[in-house]
Formats: sequence, C-alpha cells, structure tokens
Amino acid sequence: MPPPVSALTREQYAGRACCWCGTRLWRGAVSAGIARGRQGAHVLDAEVWACPACAEARPCPV
Ligand SMILES: [Zn+2]
Repeated sequence: MPPPVSALTREQYAGRACCWCGTRLWRGAVSAGIARGRQGAHVLDAEVWACPACAEARPCPV
C-alpha cells in the first residue's frame, strides 16, 4: 500500500514524484497503487507512482 494522501507532498500526489522517496519521476515510473485520503466529505484517493528502485523494494500488491 502506498502512503496515505496526508503523507504525500503535492508533487507526489500529482504523480510527478516517487510516493516513497520523493524522487522526481521522468521515465520508468511504476504504479504504486491508490493512495487513500479524505477531507471532510471529499475523497482524495489518487493513483500514485514510484521510481523503479522503490517499486522493486515494495511491490505493488495489486
Ligand atoms: Zn523512490
């Protein structure tokens, strides 16, 4: 499971940075699954991405 939305930076939430280490993603990004979050009535769930090194260390369960 990726980190919760509340633990992500804006870049990570937008899928522009690795959700684990924060590395800027250029190519070879791997889906890390869905980060879960909500703010009041709003669901903030978003697909997040990982760099290849992190994706290998923490395989996506999906
Ligand atoms: Zn990473």
